[in-house]
Amino acid sequence: MAYVISEDCIACGTCIDECPVGAISEGEIYKIDPDACTDCGTCADVCPTEAIHPA
Ligand code: SF4
Ligand code: SF4
Repeated sequence: MAYVISEDCIACGTCIDECPVGAISEGEIYKIDPDACTDCGTCADVCPTEAIHPA
């Protein structure tokens, strides 16, 4: 299991600095590496567009 980022992402960059394991990478839509994500939920809490959800 891992969190995923939907097309609601506006590439604001808020989540990337909040991930404790560096699982998020930049892009037009940011991405979460499912092998690195520990399901902590921190990124989902800070996303202004609620684009991040558990898979
Ligand atoms: S749920 Fe936690 S570990 Fe997974 S991408 Fe978000 S902040 Fe990183
Ligand atoms: S915080 Fe949300 S909108 Fe901003 S880059 Fe991350 S997923 Fe995209």
